[in-house]
Amino acid sequence: GLRGHRGWRPAWRKPDPKPAYDAVIIGGGGHGLATAYYLAKNHGVRRVAVLEKGWIGGGNTGRNTTVIRSNYFYPESVALYDLALRLYEGLSKELNYNVMLSQRGMLIAAHTPMQMEICARIANAMMLNGVDGSLMGPQEARARLPLLNDAPDARYQCLGGVWQGRAGIARHDAVAWGYARAASALGVDIVEGTTVIGISTSGGRITGVETDRGPIACDRLGIAAAGATPGLVAPLGIRLPIHDYALQAFVSEPVKPMLDTVLLYLGTGTYVSQSDKGELVFGGGLDRVPTHGQRGNLPVQETIVSGLLEMFPAFGQLKLLRQWAGVVDVVPDSSPILGPAGPEGLFLNCGWGTGGFKAIPAGGWLLAHMLATGTHHEVSRPFDLTRFAEGRLIDEAAGSGIAH
Ligand code: FAD
Repeated sequence: GLRGHRGWRPAWRKPDPKPAYDAVIIGGGGHGLATAYYLAKNHGVRRVAVLEKGWIGGGNTGRNTTVIRSNYFYPESVALYDLALRLYEGLSKELNYNVMLSQRGMLIAAHTPMQMEICARIANAMMLNGVDGSLMGPQEARARLPLLNDAPDARYQCLGGVWQGRAGIARHDAVAWGYARAASALGVDIVEGTTVIGISTSGGRITGVETDRGPIACDRLGIAAAGATPGLVAPLGIRLPIHDYALQAFVSEPVKPMLDTVLLYLGTGTYVSQSDKGELVFGGGLDRVPTHGQRGNLPVQETIVSGLLEMFPAFGQLKLLRQWAGVVDVVPDSSPILGPAGPEGLFLNCGWGTGGFKAIPAGGWLLAHMLATGTHHEVSRPFDLTRFAEGRLIDEAAGSGIAH
C-alpha cells in the first residue's frame, strides 16, 4: 500500500557541512531553526549552518506538550512571549506550512480565595501589559469544562481562575519542520548528525567550532542547545546558572472531542489539553533531581496521573498510550538567557526551562537580530546574562508561577 510513497522531494536539503559560514547555530531545535530562518529572511544572512547532533526537533521541541500562551506577570516577559504569540498567529502563512495553531484558550484554575487573588493579580498585570487576560468565575469555568470534578467532596473545587483566550496549542513537529523547510529554501544548511565538541576563539573573538566531522570556521556563533549549553561554554570560562531536570509528558488513547480548552490546575500542578487526534496530552511538575536522562521517575508519574483523575474522574476509563521525558534547562528566575557571552561574536539563547516551545518564534527572531547586528533587540535586552550579577531577576517563578 505504501508503494506510491516513493520519490518524495525531501522538505529540506541534507548537505555536508562546508568549511566556513558567516554564522553557525548550534542546536536544531525550534529556537535554532527559527534563528536560521529569520537570519536569512529578515537580515539576508544566508551562508548559515544549523548543526544538530541528532535529528531536528529530537530534543525538547519534539517532546513538549505544545501549550502556547503569553499570560506572564512582568512587562519584560509579556513583551517577549506576546511577540512569540503574535508571530505564531501568522506562522502557518509565513512558512506555508500548517503548524496547526489552535487558539482554544487556557484556564489556570484556582481553588482558594488566596489563589483567586493571585489570579486577579496576573489578569490585571496582563491587561496593563496590553494582552488579553481576564478573571473567570466558577460558573463560566464549569460551563467550559463540563466533565470537571465538581462533586461536593472533590479535593479541589474550581473557583475560576485566569483566562487567556488567545492561548492554545500548536503541532510541535510542524513548527520544527516548517522552519527547517523555509530556512533550507533560503539557502541555510541544516546539518543533522553532527555534534559540536568545541568552540574556537582567537584574540577574544569567535573563529569557529570543532565538530565530530571536522572544524567549521565562522565569526558569529549562536548557541540554542538548551541543557547542553553550559557544557559547551564552560571551556571558555563562562558559568551559566542552569540546572537540567527531566520533565515528563503523557498521552492517552484517542477519544472523541471532550475538552476544548487547555486547563492547568493550581492545586495538583497537572495540566491537560486534547490533541487534534483526540489524545489527552498532559503533564505536571519537574522531577526534582538534576539529570540528563530523557526518562522520568515513577513517583512523579503517579502524582501527575492522580492529579489528572482528581480533575476529571471520568478519564480513569482511558488507557495511557505513551509516556516520555525531555531534559529542561531551568534558570533560578524561570526566565530565559538571551544575549552575548564571553568572546566577541558569541550569543546565547537558552534557559527556557519548562516553557520555551511557546517562545520559539520570538527566540529565533531575537537571536537572529543579535547575530546580524551584534547588539541586543529591545525585547531581548532585559534577559541578558548580566541580570544575575546585577540582581535584575525577572522572577516569573514567583510572579506568575510559570509552568509550561
Ligand atoms: P531543543 O528543542 O532541546 O533543541 C536543542 C537541540 O540542541 C537538541 O536538538 C540537541 O540535540 C541539540 N544539541 C545539544 N548539544 C549539541 C551539540 N553539542 N552539537 C549539536 N547539537 C546539539 N514549552 C512550552 O512552551 N509549552 C509546553 O507545553 C511545554 N511543555 C513541555 C513538556 C515537556 C515534557 C518538556 C520536556 C518540555 C516542555 N516545554 C514546553 C519546554 C520546551 O519544549 C522547550 O523549552 C523548547 O522546546 C526548547 O527549545 P530549544 O530549541 O531551545 O531546545
